[in-house]
Amino acid sequence: MKIAILPGDGIGPEIIAEAVKVLNALRLPLEMATAPVGGAAYAAHGHPLPEATLALARDADAVLFGAVGDWKYDTLPRHLRPEQAILGLRKALGLFANLRPAICYAQLTHASSLKPELVAGLDILIVRELTGDIYFGQPRGRRSAPDGPFAGTDEAYDTMRYSRPEIERIAHVAFQAARKRRRKVTSVDKANVLETFQFWKEVVTEVHRDYPDVELEHMYVDNAAMQLVKAPKKFDVIVTGNMFGDILSDEAAMLTGSIGMLPSASLNERGQGLYEPSHGSAPDIAGQGIANPLATILSVAMMLRYSLQMPEAADRIEAAVQRVLADGLRTPDIHSEGTRRVGTAEMGDAVVHALG
Ligand code: NAD
Repeated sequence: MKIAILPGDGIGPEIIAEAVKVLNALRLPLEMATAPVGGAAYAAHGHPLPEATLALARDADAVLFGAVGDWKYDTLPRHLRPEQAILGLRKALGLFANLRPAICYAQLTHASSLKPELVAGLDILIVRELTGDIYFGQPRGRRSAPDGPFAGTDEAYDTMRYSRPEIERIAHVAFQAARKRRRKVTSVDKANVLETFQFWKEVVTEVHRDYPDVELEHMYVDNAAMQLVKAPKKFDVIVTGNMFGDILSDEAAMLTGSIGMLPSASLNERGQGLYEPSHGSAPDIAGQGIANPLATILSVAMMLRYSLQMPEAADRIEAAVQRVLADGLRTPDIHSEGTRRVGTAEMGDAVVHALG
C-alpha cells in the first residue's frame, strides 16, 4: 500500500509529523512518499499543485493531507492560491464523498457551546456530496438581468443541479457507512422548494430499497440545522448535497467545541481517499509547537479503515487517543483547569506511547 504525504502550509507540517510518527509506530507494510502542496509548493515550484505532487497522489492508495493556505499568498491570482491545491486534488481524483465525523469525547464536553448532557457521547457522521451541486453547476456568471422586476440591471447567478448517478453513489456511501454504525440515515434536502432536492429525495428513497436493514428519514435542511443544536444525538449518518453539507458539517463540528479534534475523509469510487483534519492551516499559531495534532492522527485512523482495510489498526489509534485524553493531556485549544497542557510533539509522543 502506498501513501502520499502532503504536509502543506502553516501548522500542516507540524501536525503531519505527529501523524507519521503514529503511523510508523504501527509498523504496517506501507510505502510513504512526501511532496509539497499549497503555498509551500508555490514557493518551491511556482504552482500550488505541481505535476509531480499530483502524480504521487494519483499513484497512491491514500493521501494524507495536512492543510494549505497562508495570508502571504492572499494577493496571488485565484488559480495560484494555495487553496486551489485541495480543489485540484478533489477534481483529479474524483473525490465525490466527504465523510466528516463529529464526535464529542466524554472528557471534552465542556468545550462545546451546548449543555454537556446534549453532546456527551455525540457521534454523528456527515456524508457530504463534494463534486456537484450549485458549487459546480453550469451555467454561472454575471450578466444584465434578462427579465423580472430588475431587468436590465447587473445580476449574478449559479445553477443547482444533480444527476441520478451522482445522487445514487453518495446515497450508497451513506447507507454502507450506516451499516458499520447505528443503521440510521437522515437525508437532508429542501424538497419543499427546490426541484433538484425533490429529485434527490426520490433517488435516495429508491437506493434505500437495497438497504432494508437501515432506517431512512428525510429532513428539510432548515429543520436539520435546528435539530443539530436541539437534539444532535438523534442523528447517526446525515447525507446531503454539497452546499447544505458544507454548512451543516461546520455546525456539527462546533457541537464538539474543538476543531482540532475532527478528522475527515474524501473518497472516490475506487475507495481511494484523501484524509485531512477538518481545520485549516492556522497560520496564527504556526511554528509555535502548540497545534493540536489529534484531528490529523484521527484522520490516519479513518485512512486505515476506509482506504487500507486495516480496521484493527484504526481501532488502536482511536483507543490510544481516548487514553491520552483520559490521562488528562491537552493541547492549549482544548485545555481546561485540572488537565496537563502539552505541545504538538508531546501529544504525538503520548499517542504513540498509548498504542502499547
Ligand atoms: P483555521 O481552521 O486554520 O483556523 C481557525 C482557528 O482555529 C484559528 O484560531 C486556529 O488557530 C485554530 N485552529 C485550527 N486548527 C487548530 C489545531 N489543530 N490546533 C489548535 N488550534 C487550531 O481556519 P482559518 O483561520 O479560517 O484559515 C486559515 C487558512 O487555512 C486560510 O488560508 C484558509 O484558506 C485555510 N484553510 C485550509 C483548509 C484546508 O487545507 N483544507 C481548510 C480551511 C481553511
